[in-house]
Amino acid sequence: MSETSSRLPERVRNELRFRQLTVTAKTRIADSFWRIDFSGADLAGFTSPGFDDHIKVFFPDAASGILSLPEVTADGVVWKEGARPVSRDYTPLFFDAEQQTLTLDFYIHDGGVASGWADRAQIGDALAIGGPRGSLVVPEDYRFQLYVTDESGLPAFKRRNLTQTAQLSHLYAFADPAPGTAYLEVHNDLHVHWLGSGHMQGPHIDTLINTLDTVTIPSDDYFIWLTGEGEAVKKLSDYFIGQRGCDERFVRAVAYWHNK
Ligand SMILES: Cc1cc2nc3c(=O)[nH]c(=O)nc-3n(C[C@H](O)[C@H](O)[C@H](O)COP(=O)(O)OP(=O)(O)OC[C@H]3O[C@@H](n4cnc5c(N)ncnc54)[C@H](O)[C@@H]3O)c2cc1C
Repeated sequence: MSETSSRLPERVRNELRFRQLTVTAKTRIADSFWRIDFSGADLAGFTSPGFDDHIKVFFPDAASGILSLPEVTADGVVWKEGARPVSRDYTPLFFDAEQQTLTLDFYIHDGGVASGWADRAQIGDALAIGGPRGSLVVPEDYRFQLYVTDESGLPAFKRRNLTQTAQLSHLYAFADPAPGTAYLEVHNDLHVHWLGSGHMQGPHIDTLINTLDTVTIPSDDYFIWLTGEGEAVKKLSDYFIGQRGCDERFVRAVAYWHNK
């Protein structure tokens, strides 16, 4: 067994719970995100062992303002008829068990339910979350690590960067350098390549692939993480697994949003 395959990322199942939370603080971060703190007794037992865990965030009904929560039964998750609210996926950025505070960073962009809610959110507003249902616990010390994302994956990467200990680590970020640098506050030896906000598409992906062609990927002990816009993630995943011959167990590719 190779060194890498003895250290596979491990899937962990978490108890599925839905929680109602209240906004307790809101700060604008790096001029690109709303950082929102949530509290509530429901946070008892919350756990998020994976850096790229996600929770489902459920928003109050736009017309009535009513926030619905489902029941978790032996037959699964049951919503009252007609009550299934709009939801979006977000990364639990920080969780303080003592203070029972959960922090999420919402990237600010045009035309979004979640982004719009975060824009308008005020202290005392209510929101519901579900999960994280499952987590992927990824060893932190793969010798070579390479991350590609845009703003949507920066919260997860920020979490990862606090604990990763690679010998060589690259981040290719489709974000602008000034807000990106201010947002990440990188402390360790990370090679960051800023590729411009809104560029995770079309010819910019071909340009990135040309650059990646010059990067040596070791045959063992590596981890590659691809998130952001869906079509671009697919193309990059095909590149690493198909063209570069990477082992798909060490290439994590997840669409974080889709260009509509
Ligand atoms: C596992 C996972 C974790 C995630 N974690 C985070 C996180 O911590 N913080 C975060 O901000 N996002 C995160 N995302 C991405 C987030 O769920 C999506 O961006 C989501 O679509 C935002 O919802 P919305 O209601 O604001 O926009 P939507 O109503 O879904 O979309 C409205 C319009 O905005 C466009 N759009 C959506 N997202 C983006 C974007 N990121 N950039 C530019 N245009 C966009 C759409 O194409 C559409 O045209 C995560 C996604 C996944 C799958």
